[in-house]
Amino acid sequence: MNGPAMTRRRISIFGATGSIGGNTLDLIGRDRGAFDVVALTGGHNVARLAQLARDFDAEIAVTAHEDCLPALRDHLSGSTVACAAGAAAIVEAAARPADWVMSAIVGHAGLAPGMEALKQGRTLALANKESLVTAGPLLLATARAHGATILPVDSEHSAVFQALIGEDIAAVERIIITASGGAFRDWPLERMARATLADASSHPNWAMGQRITIDSASLFNKALELIETHEFFGISPSRIEPLVHPESMIHAMVGFVDGALMAHVGPPDMRHAIGFALNWPERRTLPVARLDFAALGQFTFRAPDEIRYPALRLSREVMQAGGMAGAVFNGAKERALDAFIGGEIGFLDMAHVVEETLARLTGDSLVHATMTLDTVAQTDHLARIAAGEAIRARHTKGQA
Ligand code: NAD
Ligand code: MG
Repeated sequence: MNGPAMTRRRISIFGATGSIGGNTLDLIGRDRGAFDVVALTGGHNVARLAQLARDFDAEIAVTAHEDCLPALRDHLSGSTVACAAGAAAIVEAAARPADWVMSAIVGHAGLAPGMEALKQGRTLALANKESLVTAGPLLLATARAHGATILPVDSEHSAVFQALIGEDIAAVERIIITASGGAFRDWPLERMARATLADASSHPNWAMGQRITIDSASLFNKALELIETHEFFGISPSRIEPLVHPESMIHAMVGFVDGALMAHVGPPDMRHAIGFALNWPERRTLPVARLDFAALGQFTFRAPDEIRYPALRLSREVMQAGGMAGAVFNGAKERALDAFIGGEIGFLDMAHVVEETLARLTGDSLVHATMTLDTVAQTDHLARIAAGEAIRARHTKGQA
């Protein structure tokens, strides 16, 4: 499709059955002759995982859940695709030789396979923002030590990365990260308090997995992205500004000391950021819509309201605290999100649970321990337990 045939590149996709995984396979499917698919991983949806593994002739399909292995094996019978199950098998799959690895598992579970790929010196396309939030310094140090490359895939971070090509990071004055404002951007607080799971699960502009969609409505997604920006680009928190831009066409802007501002503009289609990482350091044709500015007419902006969205304030506290505050923040957020999805707490309770958990664990020795994969996992576990207690306390209070 794109010029003369090159040697085929070996590709693995962690989280292949998800939204980012599907978009990645869409791109690979358009240029099948250029790629050999090594490992594809998924969760409970083993029928889909097996179908993708057959369609793309993968070496191995791995489900995160050991009890799903018999079903996965059934779905793959008669094919040449190997199968395996469990978190350790996913990490093992990340050790298989590959040129390019997509990290698109949702949540903390994405960290360990991404770290393994970096230890093998691979190019890691990083959609899993939780990796940078919970273990940024560890991730970057591992990449450096093993000569691996991390390419950001979150649309805002891909945008910043692109705006920085050929630039000196020392000349950066500020980074503006845009936010659509999510599902409730025009809702009054009282109504947000009563928001249902269905309300929070539809995004005005982007089609994404359920968890990030709900995180977009609470702006926890943006909070994670501010931390992600700080960790990946090494920019101080005071220079990172969130900005509500309801059209989601400008993904980020980088301001330089001379007053210039480089904006990355494009339709809300993750295949741009994924394709940029897939083709890097080249640019190649991608199947994303081209914008007609005259038809669009205008772009609008407003300051984010931190009373409605306490996640933004909390993210700054996390950046100031450093260490493993990010792992506490993310673990508590994931537990609070489970509780909202499970109907245990209301939409606005999520931020309270995260704030209480952060406050409770600030002095904990684990939060100040040396950052390793193990201490991050322990901190994540501790945060979930503390958040669970905060959730139960709210529940009891609510019923009294
Ligand atoms: P999704 O829910 O659509 O897919 C998640 C994938 O992870 C699935 O393949 C699922 O089977 C797998 N998974 C879930 N739990 C797992 C576990 N415990 N162990 C192993 N695998 C597990 O999610 P998504 O929207 O594709 O997002 C994936 C990641 O990319 C997230 O970190 C998200 O924040 C980030 N991201 C997504 C988008 C987007 O447009 N969807 C944009 C930017 C960043
Ligand atoms: Mg994003």
